[in-house]
Amino acid sequence: MQNKITKFLAYDKKVAVMCIDSTNLVEEIRNIHNLTPTTTVALGRLATVVAMMTHLELKDQTDNITVQIKGNGPIGSMVAISQLASAKLANLKLYADNPYVELPLKPNGKVDVGGAVGQQGYLNIIRQNTLTEGIYKAIIPLVSGEIAEDFTEYFAKSEQKPTALALGVLVNQNGVKRAGGYIINPMPDATDEEITKIEEAIQSAKTISEMLEEGLCLEEIAKIVTGDNQVEILEQDLDVSYQCDCTREKFERGIVSLGKEEILKIIEEDGKIDTECHFCHKKYRFSEQELKNLIHIESHKME
Ligand SMILES: [Zn+2]
Repeated sequence: MQNKITKFLAYDKKVAVMCIDSTNLVEEIRNIHNLTPTTTVALGRLATVVAMMTHLELKDQTDNITVQIKGNGPIGSMVAISQLASAKLANLKLYADNPYVELPLKPNGKVDVGGAVGQQGYLNIIRQNTLTEGIYKAIIPLVSGEIAEDFTEYFAKSEQKPTALALGVLVNQNGVKRAGGYIINPMPDATDEEITKIEEAIQSAKTISEMLEEGLCLEEIAKIVTGDNQVEILEQDLDVSYQCDCTREKFERGIVSLGKEEILKIIEEDGKIDTECHFCHKKYRFSEQELKNLIHIESHKME
């Protein structure tokens, strides 16, 4: 299940562009979390931008990005975590507190992502570039909860990078028809005239999901949204996959951290603990004997 991500340069290397077709990724996320149309679009937009950020901002497999969007809407908190599995492949996982939210379409016929996420709240980003810059943290208030606007604000305010960002997810009753996005970053030597040309090109372009639905390739889309017919490919065949790295040991550590008394109380009341991974819905059951063993491990640590 491949997705496609390509990096381009436009206007004689003065403008960096990245385009993504994330259709397969978003359909996989819809299936894993059993999402409604509204939450498919919300989580699909989030996954699409995080996949692009992973390829733009991470350099090494020890690097990672954690994004939390916490708005006052019914979807609750959304969390996405990503890292590079290789130079060409990003691994990503995410979840929403309430994946079953479904809202009526807005009067303009669009899915009401802002209503589901909420207009008030914050976007919290932690980026770890282990070998280079270390840990970078930013927290900014939400602009609209529509996700693309919120990340555009983040790039402008926190990263001081003028950025045009588009994210689109087209759903029908069968699932995800098309999902994709693009990021355009003019370098400091881009002229005002070139920036104006890009703004006009974006204005007159169809949405990213419509362009993908028409069968346009990423290079054709890059040309349309920059207004430059001479875009050159900088890097292609980049990909993203949904990957959860949860283990039984991680859940064990979580249980141990409850402390001996709490675990004994649970053994007495329930005789077991059932846990489930937020990201992949894998279930881990801990029996009474296993819990007693964990207490044993914990008391050894205390000695
Ligand atoms: Zn998992």
